[in-house]
Amino acid sequence: MELDRRKFLIVGGLTVLGLVAKPGWEVLSEIDKSEPPQGPEQLAKKRWAMAVDVKKCWTREEACVDCINACHRIHNVPSFPHPKEEIKWIWKVPFEKAFPENEPEFMEEGTPEKPIVLLCNQCESPPCVRYCPTRATWQREDGIVMMDFHRCIGCRYCMAGCPYGSRSFNWRDPRPFIKNVNLDFPTRTRGVVEKCNFCEERLVQGLQPACVEACKDKALVFGNLKDPQSEVRKVLQNRHILQRMPELGTKPKVYYLV
Ligand code: SF4
Repeated sequence: MELDRRKFLIVGGLTVLGLVAKPGWEVLSEIDKSEPPQGPEQLAKKRWAMAVDVKKCWTREEACVDCINACHRIHNVPSFPHPKEEIKWIWKVPFEKAFPENEPEFMEEGTPEKPIVLLCNQCESPPCVRYCPTRATWQREDGIVMMDFHRCIGCRYCMAGCPYGSRSFNWRDPRPFIKNVNLDFPTRTRGVVEKCNFCEERLVQGLQPACVEACKDKALVFGNLKDPQSEVRKVLQNRHILQRMPELGTKPKVYYLV
């Protein structure tokens, strides 16, 4: 919707200025041909998922934050100075915090302290969606749990409903705390909840999520679970998998390969 509005304004502006030889609506229809249709039927053919290869994530001695930087940069995630106000779409915690139910009895020494990448699990059965009274958060046919920042009234019921702490609340205007604003993605306002969107704005352009692209160690694998030939399906077949709190029945679509 945001893209459509932007395209309309660009083409309209060019037409008014006389900078395009064709009428605006013809230019618009040519632009639309370049993008795959994303109606409910096309979306339903996909079920997006991410696999995090934790051992690849741990190959570097130094703490790597390439995925976090890439995501937060393109999504205009603010850096508030106070940790209690932190906005996070993707972040890291020690293994023992991410998977407290996994006894480290036979684990390699040091594993409980090693960092695990966390993000919205894009749950198949998302409690956050059920809790939202305004439908500011909803689930698409391809499983992505979306946020409409304009509809959010800041009640934070979705945050109470999410068992994974995957949502952040803007206690104050985030805009002064964004280093370089990306004009291709909306900024938020005070009183709005936000979270990872699996880079849906990149998927529609045929791109991988920014975090996946940024990872030099290829620790993040993203793809369509409904495609048996997809890389994500192949890695999930061959590795031992952990999920965060699967006992809650939320069916997370972020898998950890251990
Ligand atoms: Fe919703 Fe939390 Fe699941 Fe993301 S991880 S879909 S915010 S319940």
